Amino acid sequence: MSVAKQRRISIVVFIDAMGWEVLKGRSFLARELPYRRKLRSVLGYSSACVPSILTGLMPREHGHWSFFYYSPETSPFKPLRALNLLPGGLVNRGRVRNLLSRAVKKAYGFTGYFQLYNVPFRYIHLFDYCEKRDIFKPGGMNRGKNIFECLEQAGVRYHVSDWHLGEEENFSRLHRDIERGEVTFAFLYLAQLDALLHRVGKESDKVDQKLAEYEQALRKVLAHAARHYEDVRMFICSDHGMATVHTHVDLIGKVEALGLEYGRDYVAAYDSTMGRFWFHNEHARERIRALLADIPEGRILSDQELHALGCDFDHHQFGELIFLMDAGVIIVPSHMGEKPITGMHGYHPDAPDSDASLLSNVEPPCDPKAIPDMFRLMRHEAGI
Ligand SMILES: [Zn+2]
Repeated sequence: MSVAKQRRISIVVFIDAMGWEVLKGRSFLARELPYRRKLRSVLGYSSACVPSILTGLMPREHGHWSFFYYSPETSPFKPLRALNLLPGGLVNRGRVRNLLSRAVKKAYGFTGYFQLYNVPFRYIHLFDYCEKRDIFKPGGMNRGKNIFECLEQAGVRYHVSDWHLGEEENFSRLHRDIERGEVTFAFLYLAQLDALLHRVGKESDKVDQKLAEYEQALRKVLAHAARHYEDVRMFICSDHGMATVHTHVDLIGKVEALGLEYGRDYVAAYDSTMGRFWFHNEHARERIRALLADIPEGRILSDQELHALGCDFDHHQFGELIFLMDAGVIIVPSHMGEKPITGMHGYHPDAPDSDASLLSNVEPPCDPKAIPDMFRLMRHEAGI
């Protein structure tokens, strides 16, 4: 325990998928963090939302959205196409895909989060990947500066979790830095709740258990910080919530039934909640557009709407046409996975289950209303 206390520390805790609706009816740190507000999310998965939190920018500005995008000229994955010759039962098993993802990440020197997911090897040479660098490091963004770059430039001493490590290790590291009493800003990254919610859904008792664990661990952080700092400010935020899945749509099957040729007529990326299409001829564009317009469980996003959502990219980088499923509907199978799951996010930000949360022990500065506003809040807390 130190004798001379530092004046102030601001601790930002990021809990992936701790949605406003996930916390509803649950008393998570209610006494310690009485300031609670809903934050509007950003269209896309964590691969889009976390960059918005770290930069204050919308996806079209920071250039991070869904992981895979059509770009045969720049695709680094051409050598992987040969894996298509191996039996699918072997190379498409989850564990084998994980091992391959790790090997590819190492071979290409990617420092970001990299997963091959379920993207078919016969088409992988058509795609490039948008998170090649570690977004939690200075210089990690495709465009713009993240908070860590700003902190370093301003010479602020800060703590940040290493997302490669487990939660327990990241809690210990935070405690070590609190003990030293040198940092004035800390960012703790917690991702396990997201994985659990995907598996069991937001209504499960297991979610109560997990939140109780976090509650206990974060109380310890608050108590420990209070011994080393005069003023402890804590902000817990998330990137999105989690909807309970009620409907599966075989979008790939429907598109393939049109008899168009993938790669010659069109190219598609199938995320869990979005079909993204690129067209090589007008016939394919019309056929696919007409098919999608007839699917009641989702809708085509207009250019105008994509613009309003901050997801209108230069040269339609992430798709010339975006078909978004309604909340609770998933595309199965998709390029993200073959098996259905209980919870999913990546729906329209207007859907109540998309809302993120912000909990704090002080009135949050800068009146944040949407997740990109966290960037301004963090700068304010760091005094930069
Ligand atoms: Zn998730």
